Amino acid sequence: MPASHGYAAQNNTSPLAPFAFSRREPLPSDIAVDILYCGVCHSDLHMARNEWGISMFPLVPGHEIVGRVTHVGSDVKKFKVGQIAAIGVIVDSCRACPSCEAGEENYCDNGMTPTYAAPDRVDGSITMGGYSSNYVVDERFAHTVPEGLDLAGVAPLLCAGITTYSPLRHWKVGPGKKVGIVGLGGLGHMALKFAHSFGARVVQFTTSESKRGDALKLGADEVVLSKDADAMAAQANSFDFILDCVSAQHDINAYISLLKRDGTLALVGLPEVPPTVQTMNLAFRRRAVAGSIIGGMPETQEMLDYCGKHNITADVEVIPIAQINEAFERMLKQDVKYRFVIDMATL
Ligand code: NAP
Ligand code: ZN
Ligand code: ZN
Repeated sequence: MPASHGYAAQNNTSPLAPFAFSRREPLPSDIAVDILYCGVCHSDLHMARNEWGISMFPLVPGHEIVGRVTHVGSDVKKFKVGQIAAIGVIVDSCRACPSCEAGEENYCDNGMTPTYAAPDRVDGSITMGGYSSNYVVDERFAHTVPEGLDLAGVAPLLCAGITTYSPLRHWKVGPGKKVGIVGLGGLGHMALKFAHSFGARVVQFTTSESKRGDALKLGADEVVLSKDADAMAAQANSFDFILDCVSAQHDINAYISLLKRDGTLALVGLPEVPPTVQTMNLAFRRRAVAGSIIGGMPETQEMLDYCGKHNITADVEVIPIAQINEAFERMLKQDVKYRFVIDMATL
């Protein structure tokens, strides 16, 4: 079994620390990669601290992976040794249900297998994420990376990128639509870039006045400080679609009031404490509240190819892995511009 090492949380209160383990023996349809970069998603923090109550320890986080292929099984068609490959939040699914057949493995009826902290469908071992030296995965769940993009900036596309691209496409964000993005963090800044690139009129909502200038540079037509009641009231009943990318408890009813008749607020942020909805506020304008999780394999490849064509990557602060615990604390203080990415050469 291929040896691996990385950083793991031993329980929900321990800091991440060096940890050795092994990967499954590659199958004929598997590739193995040496990890070059791994993004730091807020979900990694929720999981390392068991805030959703589903974590399995020891837990190696990381699902925004870019690596170099070191091995291809005899059935592999998409990759050659030496090529760059990207792995996101999903490393397996049942491959047979209607969702999987539609390429929406993220909605697998039998439950997709996440990149870390879940039983591997092949050998029952617990999956370990990308804050580590290598990964073994079926080629169906790995993606090719367009040439010419900065690889550290590509890593966050595998979660923050697809998680925002997919709902913006699903709800047909584009020219003539007014769209709000709530929270300018890892997901939020990718949502802003995509919504702007798709041609919508985009309003960025933030609690951080200091991010106003960046939001405008990233493509916002307008920036609203959500603590400013007058500025919020001025936006009432005007949005076709709002994407909420906030990691902590907050009042979503303030945003529902900003939707037009038949507008939708989609939640991709997954705070530890779920929000409450004032149903009256929905009923009177036939508004909807929805959710969305990552994206399927074909759409993830489509998103990467779109980024290659339009030269879109995440804005990143590259860190050595020894700084991961500090990075988690900074993320909680909303002090990240706009994604930490671990340079795995520092492992
Ligand atoms: P992040 O980089 O930490 O960004 C979160 C942003 O939320 C912050 O930058 C901040 O934006 C805002 N925020 C934080 N605390 C707040 C508070 N108390 N009140 C209001 N706003 C607050 O996190 P991320 O990596 O983008 O992840 C965001 C959420 O999405 C997490 O819950 C994560 O688990 C979830 N997620 C979901 C999926 C999915 O498939 N659905 C995929 C990945 C992540 P401002 O400073 O601009 O206010
Ligand atoms: Zn993530
Ligand atoms: Zn399935």
